[in-house]
Amino acid sequence: MSSDEKPVGVAVLGLGNVGSQVVRIIEDSADDLAARIGAPLVLRGVGVRRVADDRGVPIDMLTDNIEELVSRDDVDIVVELMGPVEPARKAILSALEQRKSVVTANKALMAVSTGELAQAAEHAHVDLYFEASVAGAIPVIRPLTQSLAGDTVLRVAGIVNGTTNYILSEMDSTGADYDSALADASALGYAEADPTADVEGYDAAAKAAILASIAFHTRVTAADVHREGITNVSPADFASARALGCTIKLLAICERLTSDEGQQRVSARVYPALVPLDHPLASVNGAFNAVFVEAEAAGQLMFYGQGAGGAPTASAVMGDVVMAARNRVQGGRGPRESKYAKLPISPIGFIPTRYYVNMNVSDLPGVLSAVSAEFAKREVSIAEVRQEGMVDEEGQRCGARIVVVTHQATDAALSETVAALADLDVVQSINSVLRMEGTTNE
Ligand code: NAP
Repeated sequence: MSSDEKPVGVAVLGLGNVGSQVVRIIEDSADDLAARIGAPLVLRGVGVRRVADDRGVPIDMLTDNIEELVSRDDVDIVVELMGPVEPARKAILSALEQRKSVVTANKALMAVSTGELAQAAEHAHVDLYFEASVAGAIPVIRPLTQSLAGDTVLRVAGIVNGTTNYILSEMDSTGADYDSALADASALGYAEADPTADVEGYDAAAKAAILASIAFHTRVTAADVHREGITNVSPADFASARALGCTIKLLAICERLTSDEGQQRVSARVYPALVPLDHPLASVNGAFNAVFVEAEAAGQLMFYGQGAGGAPTASAVMGDVVMAARNRVQGGRGPRESKYAKLPISPIGFIPTRYYVNMNVSDLPGVLSAVSAEFAKREVSIAEVRQEGMVDEEGQRCGARIVVVTHQATDAALSETVAALADLDVVQSINSVLRMEGTTNE
């Protein structure tokens, strides 16, 4: 490194789990970072709400005036780690308009405002990087935007939310029900006080939108993603899944669909699904994340690691900071996103998947054929049926549980079938309907 190089100034907005780790790395690894960038990387200030002298950063580095910090002449890169949409959006737009490069970990923002922010970066001819917004430390945005830029990505299926993966792994390994697994996750710090964003799939849907946009070179926002959470998954579902050689995972799936006429569409969806135990995603347990990519020429790729946490997320943020700093030292910007494809989004009703339907029925002759007839009427082909008798508290037979696994069917056909089943006198209850992903049996 030439020590004469003009330093690259950095403003970090946010000093929480991730921001404090980013500040630590900038300070602790100053010499290495300077050597990698070709110029010193200098922290100019840190934006927070609470300016105090107990924050592990000299108080004169702290400010609650975000706009003033972003606008400083000696700030070249703004690292946004405050979270939710505002004031992060305003700060990022202001930085981009002032021709500062931006690095963010903010998936909620990137999933709703990516077009607006990308346009502002394009206009200012600066970098906008967001590797940490999906799957924490795991490099997935850069492989999709750069390493696979010459290939055609067909499908991305990810476990991108550590909280729900921890809960589902616990339910699978201990037989716990959803509430106790959630309580465990909270006690261990894996679930927030209000776990809605995680357990209802909002967080995974934001990441699915980002992944689909990048993988298919088209604009997908969180509103385009079909979303179902894990709150209704039961120990009985896990028992049935096991019997079928599967486990249950909350998946974010992004798929390129080609019609018989060659028309391409994109599907982005989040839901709990049965996954065969021999699928690579089935062995991703605890709070870990993984992203499984299928590309035309590359075939199957799997990215695995820590999807959250201050230090792992800071690793991804710092990768972006170093890239953006190098680009500035060299007087340019890095590869930008390409959103040329403008592919329509496919409604969930048209998406074909396999299904698992778990229901309680009366223990009477002819029940199975009545149930099968409803599937057949809507051309939903049955791959497998399992039936077990049920007994009440006195040990008396009180019905049967039927588990049906279908071949591929559209969501619309399956929904109609389930509605018709629920109307049958012999069906006591539909206990659950889950999709099955990652099987070769179509
Ligand atoms: P956090 O611990 O809640 O920290 C947020 C920080 O932002 C705090 O230092 C807070 O200041 C500051 N802040 C919030 N609103 C502000 C405002 N209006 N003005 C000035 N400062 C403000 O959040 P985090 O966990 O570090 O997450 C940061 C970002 O990274 C989020 O977008 C999150 O989605 C993303 N992310 C986090 C993880 C993870 O594992 N934590 C993983 C991937 C991505 P005070 O400290 O003064 O309150």
